[in-house]
Amino acid sequence: MQNYELLIERIVKSSGLDKEEVERKVEAKKAKLSGLISKEGAAQIIAAELGISFEDQDLKISELMGGMRRVNVVAKVINIFPVREYSKNGREGKVANFIVADDTGNTRVVLWDTNHISLIEEEKIKVGDVVEIKNASTRDSEIHLSGFSELKKSLTVIGDVKTETTVSEGTLAEVKRGQSVRIRGVVVQVFQPRFYSVCPQCNKKVIAVNTGALSEEGKGEGFKCVEHGPVAVPKDRAILNFVLDDGTDTMRVVMFSDQIVLLIPEEDLKDAEKAMAFRDDLIGTEIYLSGNVKRNQMFNNLEIVASGVEKIDVEALIGELNKKD
Ligand SMILES: [Zn+2]
Repeated sequence: MQNYELLIERIVKSSGLDKEEVERKVEAKKAKLSGLISKEGAAQIIAAELGISFEDQDLKISELMGGMRRVNVVAKVINIFPVREYSKNGREGKVANFIVADDTGNTRVVLWDTNHISLIEEEKIKVGDVVEIKNASTRDSEIHLSGFSELKKSLTVIGDVKTETTVSEGTLAEVKRGQSVRIRGVVVQVFQPRFYSVCPQCNKKVIAVNTGALSEEGKGEGFKCVEHGPVAVPKDRAILNFVLDDGTDTMRVVMFSDQIVLLIPEEDLKDAEKAMAFRDDLIGTEIYLSGNVKRNQMFNNLEIVASGVEKIDVEALIGELNKKD
């Protein structure tokens, strides 16, 4: 939901005015300020003029957006991750993460305060508990708690919650880092596949090592898996990048093996001719892309890591439509 729509809805709820009236007030305010502020800004002024404060209201998870402050949420814990220790710029610290859900969606909660983290460590907050979060902030759509935030177990009963990943079906122009998205678009460019070596046991990337023994025998470099030690013959895995255009913007998409193999056998990508035929076939194809929006460190822009690529079968869609009569 857009911030503006959300604001309007809340103003309507709190003021008792109807939606048209609120929107008229917003338009009038905007006109009075010679259009110098956004609709959202105007709506905020209207809310303030009507004496409405959003700060004490509990928000639904679907209403969370990046950059919100003083966020209050009541939700059920559906997954807890192990507490992690980190050291950054010479400082040691801990961070805890868990996932909360309500009837509208689910999101990650990040704890930075040791008092909050101890609630997790001492299992005072467990999976299945309903928690009350106050005075948190959001980054992307995650909820972050600082030392000024409150976290406690709530007696509120929450029944069914949305446990499947909340997917925003949206446009490329609107995607934000951290979102899970599903976008319909056309593949406009496909790059050369790249390969990297993995351990055949665990499929994790192997590290190239220069072992003296191997060098003496003239074999040069070997490979090592952090978990499984020396790897005699690593497996090759492919990475495929393409550009998706949905009419609002274009974005680079990264596909790993698990997704690639659903479209083409990985070995075929090593065969120049087959790889070219695959590329030619994929370009211009309309797809539904599911994935997570990440920031590419090297290019400092957003990209989508694919978790699902579905070619749109126009005929099947028409068939589907014809069934619903
Ligand atoms: Zn391994």
